[in-house]
Amino acid sequence: MHHYSIRLFTIVATILCFSNHVSFAQLREVTEQEIAKIREALPDKAPTKPKQPRKVLLFSKTAGFRHSSISVGVKSLTMLGEKTGAFTATHTEDESIFEPERLKEFDLVIMVNTTGEIFKSKGEGSAEREARLKKSLVDFLKSGKGIAGTHSATDTYKNWKEYNDMMGGAFVSHPWHMDVPVRILDANHPLTKVFGGKGFTIKDEIYQFRNDTANPKDRRMLLSLKSTWDGTKKGNRKDNFYPISWISKYGDGRTFYCSLGHREEIYWNPMVLEHYLAGFQYAMGDLAADATPIEVDVSTD
Ligand SMILES: [Zn+2]
Repeated sequence: MHHYSIRLFTIVATILCFSNHVSFAQLREVTEQEIAKIREALPDKAPTKPKQPRKVLLFSKTAGFRHSSISVGVKSLTMLGEKTGAFTATHTEDESIFEPERLKEFDLVIMVNTTGEIFKSKGEGSAEREARLKKSLVDFLKSGKGIAGTHSATDTYKNWKEYNDMMGGAFVSHPWHMDVPVRILDANHPLTKVFGGKGFTIKDEIYQFRNDTANPKDRRMLLSLKSTWDGTKKGNRKDNFYPISWISKYGDGRTFYCSLGHREEIYWNPMVLEHYLAGFQYAMGDLAADATPIEVDVSTD
């Protein structure tokens, strides 16, 4: 009997491991308390009505560091779409969803704290497969769809130039994990409306990006660290500019990135959720917003 139980357990465990690409060991149950906090924080409605029913892919595979906030992040973004009617979310960590035939059913891909080279696999044909999935993502975006990312979406494929161009930045380091003052770069922009024109303070791990990425001349910067804040001395970026979120056009598509999202409570911060949603709706082509790059003066706020 004892042996039988162990064997049965092994068989069931093996089936579970192979049948579901989201590892059970890595994704945890989101608690009732956390769900209540998310529910409390969700906006009542989206910034704009979707032009058609929208399908969003939440992808959270990690091939490097794994953030513990992924589980609440996925839950929160799923509930954000459900409550506001802005989109319906599908979540997976199986990269085969990026095969062109499967990817085309989505309007937007959100990289939720992905890390590393997420399209890599093992075995024969893996290099060709990776190249095919990479091309599929680029073609998807260029054709007029959207890509968005939270936090370590920029700690993903740092040596793939097209990905860096799409996501907008390549992570270098995180000199700050503390309360930081945030600067609103354009108070009248549809994506920053929620902040009411005022800078704010937030506690999270804040990224510094590689010098050849995240440049104001290439994309529309929305939020950054307060430029006159003494704490920026901890960074060593050449232009002394530490952006937090931005949008951009890419081919016929649109992209949105926000580096907030390390800590779990970011996913039940009402302002951040509204900012995210405006960004997602921009990237899906529902919310009209100017993505023209603007000059940023780092000597003042
Ligand atoms: Zn982090």
